[in-house]
Formats: sequence, C-alpha cells, structure tokens
Amino acid sequence: MSIGSTQIGDPRLLIDGKLVDAESGRTFDNVDPATEEVLGVTADAGTADTEQAIAAARRAFDETTWSTDHQFRRECLLQLQQALEDEREEFRAEVVAEAGAPIMTTYAAQIDWPIDDAVRWPAEYISEFAWDRDIPDSEAFGMLSHRAVWKEAVGVVAAITPWNFPVEVALGKIGTALATGNTVILKAAPDTPWSATRIGRLVAERTDIPAGVFNVLTSSDHGVGEQLVVDRRVDMISFTGSTATGARIASIAAPRMARTFLELGGKSAMIVLDDADFESVVPGASLMCMHAGQGCALQTRLLVPRHRYDESVELVTQAFRDIGVGDPNDAGNMGGPLISAKQRDKVLGYIEQGRAEGGRVTTGGGRPAAYDRGFYVEPTVFADVTNDMTVAREEIFGPVIAVIAFDDDDDAVRLANDNDYGLSGGVFAGDRDRALAVSRRIRTGSLMVNGGMFYGADAPYGGYKASGTGRQNGPEGFEQHLQTKTVGYTDGLDDD
Ligand code: NAD
Repeated sequence: MSIGSTQIGDPRLLIDGKLVDAESGRTFDNVDPATEEVLGVTADAGTADTEQAIAAARRAFDETTWSTDHQFRRECLLQLQQALEDEREEFRAEVVAEAGAPIMTTYAAQIDWPIDDAVRWPAEYISEFAWDRDIPDSEAFGMLSHRAVWKEAVGVVAAITPWNFPVEVALGKIGTALATGNTVILKAAPDTPWSATRIGRLVAERTDIPAGVFNVLTSSDHGVGEQLVVDRRVDMISFTGSTATGARIASIAAPRMARTFLELGGKSAMIVLDDADFESVVPGASLMCMHAGQGCALQTRLLVPRHRYDESVELVTQAFRDIGVGDPNDAGNMGGPLISAKQRDKVLGYIEQGRAEGGRVTTGGGRPAAYDRGFYVEPTVFADVTNDMTVAREEIFGPVIAVIAFDDDDDAVRLANDNDYGLSGGVFAGDRDRALAVSRRIRTGSLMVNGGMFYGADAPYGGYKASGTGRQNGPEGFEQHLQTKTVGYTDGLDDD
C-alpha cells in the first residue's frame, strides 16, 4: 500500500518496529463526518496482526531493558516529544478532517495541550519519581531485616481509545504507560485511525524506542480490542470509551485478574447557585456544544434555582442560538458534526425521547436546515426537565442540555449526585467559599469552580461511579501503571 496524494493520514500499522499493511491486505475507509466523503484508507488489522503485536510487545517487555533503564526511556520520550511538536499542524489538520473537530478546539484540549505536555510531563517526571524507597528495618525472631519498596512496570499495556479526542486520549495513555516502563499496543477507534498511525510513524522514524515497545493497531472490527483484553500476555487494559464497553472489558478481563484502568462516560452537572451573576455565568453553559457535545467531561445538566428558572432558560436558549455550527475548518464554529450517521441518529432519538417524556425544546431539536450533508445536529435546550427523565440520566454525547430546577444548595447537591456517572462538573457562586463547600459534596472526579480549570498532564483525571476506575495523569497516573514489590533482606545468614 502506498500513501496516495489525496490521503493525508498514514494507512500503516506499527508492529514490532515496522510500518506494515494488514496481513490480509484489507483496508477500511476513513470518512469525513462534515462532508460524508471518504478521506482515504487505513490498514484493517485482524486476528493475525493483533497476535503479532501482542507477541512483539511481550517480547520487548521481557527481553529488553526498556522497563528498567529509566534514563533511556526519558531520552526516547523526549525525542517523541520533539517529533510531535514538529508535526503539530499535521495533527491539527487530521483531527479536523477525521473527527470533525472544530479547529477552535484544536488550540486547546484537542491538540495543543496534549502535544505540549502529555508526553513531556511523564518523561520529565521519570527523573523525579521515587522508583525505590527504603522503609525502616524490622526485627523478627531475633533477625534484623532491611526493607525496601520497588516500583516496577505492570508489563504489556493495551491502550484502547475512542474517537472524540483521539490524539489527546492516545497521548495521555501512552505518555504515562511508556514513561513507567510498560510496552504498549495502541488500538485506535475505527472512526479516527490516522491520529494513531501518525504517532506510530513518528515513534518508528523519529525515536530510538526499541522495536516492539510501541505498536499501533487500526481496525474496522471492535473484536481486535476484545482479543487484546482476553490475551494472557497483556497485563493491563487502559481503556477510554463508553461505560457499556468498559463494563464488558472489566467482565472479560476479570477471570484472569488483568488490571483494568477505565475512563468512561459522564453526565456532569453545572450548578449555578443563587448568588452567582446569572447574566455572565448561565450563557457559558453553551460550552457543552463544543465538538457537538462529544466530550466526556462536558456539563450536560444545568442546575439552577427554581426562582430563577425562567430567566436561566432564556439565557441559555439565546446562547445556544448564537453558537456557530458548521464547517469545522471555520474558526468561528464551536459546533461541528457528530462523528457518524449512527451517532447522529442516536442523538436525534434521545431528543425524541425527551419530548415524549415531557421535556420542552426551547431551541434546536433536529438537523440544521442549512446542511444536506454532514452528520450535524442543532444545539438543543431541554426545559421542564426533571432528574428522572432519560435526557437527564443518560449520556447523549451530542449538543443537548437539560435544564433542571433546584430548591436550595442541599437540593442542588442531591440532584447533581443523583446520577450513575461522576466524571466532572461545575459550580458557580458569587461567594467562592460557598462554591467550594458545595464542590466538596459532589461525587465526581473533577470540578471547575467559578470557571477554574483543572486540566493538565500533572493533574490526575478520572471518574467516580460508572465514570470509571483509576486515574490518568500526574503522580496518580504513574502509580496506575506500576506494580509495587516489597522486599525484606538480610546482610546474609551465617552458620553459627
Ligand atoms: P466505545 O466504547 O464505543 O469504543 C471505544 C473503543 O473501544 C474503540 O476503540 C472500540 O473499537 C473499542 N471497543 C469496542 N468494543 C470493544 C470490546 N468489546 N473490547 C475491547 N474494545 C472494544 O466508545 P466511543 O463511542 O468510541 O467513545 C465515546 C465514549 O467515550 C463516550 O461514552 C465518552 O464519554 C467516552 N469518553 C470518556 C473519556 C474519559 O476520559 N472518561 C474520554 C473520552 C471519551
């Protein structure tokens, strides 16, 4: 397979240090969700390719010094960092094309933030991290023992990623997994393969990362992911995606006690307390339309005081009407297309269900009339929503917000927590301490208080409840990818 002139992405897998086609020779189409046109093709990995990737990653872990040579890993990852920066603009163009990500999002979490820090931070943290530490000597049965705790890589990590933030999630996973000495098989989502194959090519061509330490699989078949999960040579599954798939992965990994690290869905609440400045705060709820609402941490339930409900609905409705929706290459558009016809139809189905259950659509509610191509859905506000309705409970993953009334701060906390998910959220109040006090009571993995940002490669990230297990990023992310070995040793036993 050669890279055609119209194809911006790399179609090849990375297996055991080599950029290769699928063994079957099969490819699958990469579709632009904004135009519905085929952008190009990618290798369609199957069972044989997956088997080879697992064998290579296992061999690289067992037979090279990758997991123990901390300094070498640091150097390799800083080479990767440089390569990522050199192709920043290519990553940007690709994620706009294959994910339909509005270009404005690429200047933040979609591209620039992860390219700046997701590999650099863990690479540099290698030198700071306490790989070994001594704990006090102990004495038992008249014998003195020295004691130590050693941190060791888990082994082979399967990193399985979704399509919504394909570069960000992939770099977040592989930066820490590699920095901690694991070998990795990155399995990209079928809708966004090129973000992964570009990383694969950079590792192969621009770094000294040994063959087999990093492998990339792209496939139209979700079964490739499942093959990784059930294989005994894979020690850990690092998964980001839907809660349904996460639950399936946890259940099939459990019999062999494989470690699972799961970053799953969300239904986060934005709480606006009654002393907030409503005119400036409530329109900000429209940020959830970014990338057509396809973000796990977006705040998709707006909780406002009952006595300020009508005014809040008006403010958020106007803000949703003002959002630019359309061509993701247009810097004025915050809302692009949904990833696929299937995803668009799923979102439209939720809107119908919301109406049927008594929700009132104040703006949006369908496909925008301006587009006959592209998987677009109008930014949609649901008023008169109670917390038990489907649009308030389930992750829609589209530009749809539910506005819910609360009676007082306790009621706001109760409503925010009355959901299966616990990934993120926001609290706004005129009084900062009041906002912080409410934040302590929300059962969620991250929070933006009065608009404050928590994001960063140094900041642990993950979910409570059905939003997942474990943490990515920061020191907690390091620990997530390590085993702990505790050793007692003597100075040697003599004969007398
Ligand atoms: P998905 O669960 O359908 O797929 C995610 C990945 O899992 C894909 O690579 C897919 O091929 C693979 N997969 C599917 N079935 C599998 C199986 N049985 N075994 C192994 N792998 C399998 O998710 P999606 O639709 O691609 O992404 C959207 C979801 O991701 C949303 O729910 C969103 O909230 C979530 N997400 C969460 C975070 C987070 O950090 N918590 C970040 C981004 C996205």
